[in-house]
Amino acid sequence: MMGQTTARLPLYLRRSERSGSKRRRVVAELPNGLTVTGVTSGISCHIAELLGAGRQSEIYLAARLGEAVEIAWYPDAWRAFDTTLRDRLQELVDRGAPSDRFIWPKELVTSSGAAGIGCLTNLANPDSLSLGQLAIGTNVSLGAAVNIGYELAESVAALHAKGLCYAVIDDNDVAADPVTGHIEMWNFDNVLVDGTPARIRGGGPFVAPEVVLQQRGPSRYSDLYSLAVLLFTLLISHHPLHGGGEELLFIFDPEDESNRPVPGRQDRPLLSWTIYPQFIRDLFTRAFTAGLREREARVDAVEWRNAMLRLRDSRSSCPLCEAEVFSDAAAVDARCWNCRSELGDQTRA
Ligand SMILES: [Zn+2]
Repeated sequence: MMGQTTARLPLYLRRSERSGSKRRRVVAELPNGLTVTGVTSGISCHIAELLGAGRQSEIYLAARLGEAVEIAWYPDAWRAFDTTLRDRLQELVDRGAPSDRFIWPKELVTSSGAAGIGCLTNLANPDSLSLGQLAIGTNVSLGAAVNIGYELAESVAALHAKGLCYAVIDDNDVAADPVTGHIEMWNFDNVLVDGTPARIRGGGPFVAPEVVLQQRGPSRYSDLYSLAVLLFTLLISHHPLHGGGEELLFIFDPEDESNRPVPGRQDRPLLSWTIYPQFIRDLFTRAFTAGLREREARVDAVEWRNAMLRLRDSRSSCPLCEAEVFSDAAAVDARCWNCRSELGDQTRA
């Protein structure tokens, strides 16, 4: 079990390879064979291999009582910056994982041979790719993508039910098996008790406007914005605000067409938008019109979960070309997005 090759868990490496971003220089703080010890159980883990680096941590494969585990290790240099890290990690250990889809700390560990703190976590799926690496029609099917959307919404709902939220979440923090559509939630060290201040502030295309503008700290409401953007980019293969205009405006705002995708240059969202049933388009519209401006107007994670379940159940295939389609009871003139033939009653739910 410990003879795993570098192909065993290349997720972190795949991430940086894809993005083309400068890979964080990984200095292995923990040499192979070093012992780290659980602060509660006193049980030893033996470091076997550096797997890669997360945002703040180094990830190691280790053996604990003959079983493979992962150790996330935070060097002292990081702890000096993130002074509440240890307390936050302990809080997550005490509360327990929101569901088994989360890579989650089980116990804090320390070592007499290295300065820093770590935690023991469950093993990641070696076949998972981050959401940023998945594209419908390229390496994931429409059906698997819908399942990813369902599991993602359910996971965020489970996190919120525990009174927790993310300081920041993006498409590198959610990973999925592209074949099965089963997901893993990654960045537990960016999880907060909802309502507590965040040490880490994020920007970028997945972060809610009120957080980017530093009007408010992260909360379950900012998670709901991030969740809607993640679902939109997953299903529509485009960012919901990146159209031909300059304003902070939904590209399919029903009352203002000034930020519509540009035909010829942004054809993918123009096509993708038409293949989903009206109830999905309505939820995205609410999320990125009223929900863009008012955080209380955002679509709740439970509502997203239920919608994704309904979407999953409404999957069908075109009787003519066998493309994956959705039945849409609200559409008067439902046509196959692929071959444009009319979809008869056999595709209706
Ligand atoms: Zn067709």
